Amino acid sequence: MQGKKESIETKTVHAGEPNPRINGAVVMPIFQSAMFESAGERRYDDIRYIRLNNTPNHIALAEKLAQLENAESALVTSSGMAAISTTLLTLLSNGDHLLAQNCLYGGTHYFVTKDLEKFGISYDFIDGNDPESWERKLKPRTRAVYVETISNPLMSVPDLEAIVEFAKSHKLVSVVDNTFASPVNFRPPEFGFDLSLHSATKYLNGHSDIVAGAVIGSRVLVERVTHRLNHLGGSLDPHAAFLLHRGVKTLSIRVKHQNASALRIAQFLESHPAVAKVNYPGLENHPQHKTAQRLFDGYGGMMSFELHGGVDAAESFMHAATLPIIAPSLGGVESLVTRPAATSHSGMSVTDRQELGITDRLIRFSVGIEGTDDLLADFEHALGEVRVSPQPIRTSS
Ligand code: PLP
Repeated sequence: MQGKKESIETKTVHAGEPNPRINGAVVMPIFQSAMFESAGERRYDDIRYIRLNNTPNHIALAEKLAQLENAESALVTSSGMAAISTTLLTLLSNGDHLLAQNCLYGGTHYFVTKDLEKFGISYDFIDGNDPESWERKLKPRTRAVYVETISNPLMSVPDLEAIVEFAKSHKLVSVVDNTFASPVNFRPPEFGFDLSLHSATKYLNGHSDIVAGAVIGSRVLVERVTHRLNHLGGSLDPHAAFLLHRGVKTLSIRVKHQNASALRIAQFLESHPAVAKVNYPGLENHPQHKTAQRLFDGYGGMMSFELHGGVDAAESFMHAATLPIIAPSLGGVESLVTRPAATSHSGMSVTDRQELGITDRLIRFSVGIEGTDDLLADFEHALGEVRVSPQPIRTSS
């Protein structure tokens, strides 16, 4: 692979671009053609057809993403969930067992706990920060271990180095959902992870206008996932690939701004009397701050926090703030706020949320690229408007 030593800024712009340029086009054109004239391909996977993930748009984008994480190979998918479900269904078969981090994105949690069993695949949850306990959960047919770089919505950081070591010593495939960190802040293949997954809907695209996913890692594993995706069908349309390709070009400048902005906002929230708790790995009192400091190039643009008072206080803050839009999802140029118990994690049982500490009043905040001072002023005003209700904290809506 070329350009390994270039900065991530240069790679976001130049990696994977066609050489020579197609008819001199500075921007990778959209190849909106479902199929391509036969060039004598013999294998099914080589036939050029959008579902087989091999149009010029897929190839250029995959090469760019692979280079961003210094990996051998990559694949783009029709959504983050297509990347996650297809990867797990590639690595696991009937009778196999998965170890997964206990605090996961709601859709992944649902897939692991409700869908995998239909394929005869079992799972156990692990505490990402208690390596001593992992071995006890191993089964003869444990095949993979699955974590998130920064977990959604509590922003905990698992012991990523121990996960890789554990996977290697037990011959498991290590898989990490790197959506929250993005390749700007953490590149899993550099630390020995076998596969890095993304909801490209978020930071990679960054403009909240498409749904897409990515699988990044070793050539052999990515090829296996591609083969499975070719049959499961979660392929990215070339027009969406074009938009994602364009979004990735500004990834680094967006995320670096978001890193800096989020740190200031988290520090502001932490010192505000209306705020009960802030979860952000950049804060010194975050339980895994030292790990994050050692492994990440930035702490990311995501945080969650709780206000004194119940759900009413959270809701009144969210409605009083004028810049962040109340919407699920994250990683875009516009700041977004949501209450995970009512949105991203509403599919999780109340008991599961309770056990993990996802309270009803928890607010998740995705920092956009607005001016930090404007966001701080907006938050200051909105916190002043909060109605504190005496109701106890519940974890069900
Ligand atoms: N992974 C994480 C961490 C997410 O937050 C999400 C969606 O919010 C997904 C995966 C699923 O991605 P998508 O919505 O693109 O399918």
